[in-house]
Amino acid sequence: MRKFQVITLFPEMFSGVFENSMMWKAQKDGIVSLETVNLREFGLGPRRQVDDTPYGGGDGMLLMIKPLWRAVEFARSRDESAKVVLMSPRGRRWRQAMARVVADEGRGLIIICGRYEGVDERIMELVDEQWSIGDFVLTGGELPAMTIIDSIVRLLPGVLGGETSAEIESFSDGETLEYPQYTRPEVFNGLRVPEVLLSGHHGKIAEWRKQQSQKATVD
Ligand code: SAH
Repeated sequence: MRKFQVITLFPEMFSGVFENSMMWKAQKDGIVSLETVNLREFGLGPRRQVDDTPYGGGDGMLLMIKPLWRAVEFARSRDESAKVVLMSPRGRRWRQAMARVVADEGRGLIIICGRYEGVDERIMELVDEQWSIGDFVLTGGELPAMTIIDSIVRLLPGVLGGETSAEIESFSDGETLEYPQYTRPEVFNGLRVPEVLLSGHHGKIAEWRKQQSQKATVD
């Protein structure tokens, strides 16, 4: 079973995503375990402090090294071979091909969610990779972590219904987008399903889908 541990100050943010739909099913079926590690529990002093002002001045707060370090070590003690990943706008841009590699790799993940102005740089000693979900800045690494975990979990064998449904979809070859799809009814408010899809002619359907995929990719 794959093990994904997320180090966060806001574990409750994950309940909506981890406790519903495919994420929930994947855990119930024993394919993956999705856990949060509450950074607050590793905070310092009676107030469990986790953040402080940056040396050299500047706005905002940084996550302190000590609580973060302890949280990573705790997560590692539960999964020694896990890869440690920091969510960061300066990380490698997340792509479908990376989701595929991680899904196939079989290792556990420890994902660190930054907050405020980010993290004390010395945590990089424990970090194997940094990943970004795009060139914009969010208030924390929680949404990136959810996005990345979702994209990996749906590729794990047994999570999606059809065995091939993840193989022929958007970006599975790095760029091509999926063709348009339709389900019942055949006519809705005068809008018709393309005739070819009702023809039962598999060759023509495959050809139409290929053309539509190319069109979507170029557009
Ligand atoms: N001061 C930082 C931004 C901090 S945002 C800078 O200028 O780069 C706070 C935290 O949110 C970051 O530490 C990171 O964990 C997370 N985060 C924000 N945007 C992100 C993105 N595009 N991808 C991944 N993580 C992101």
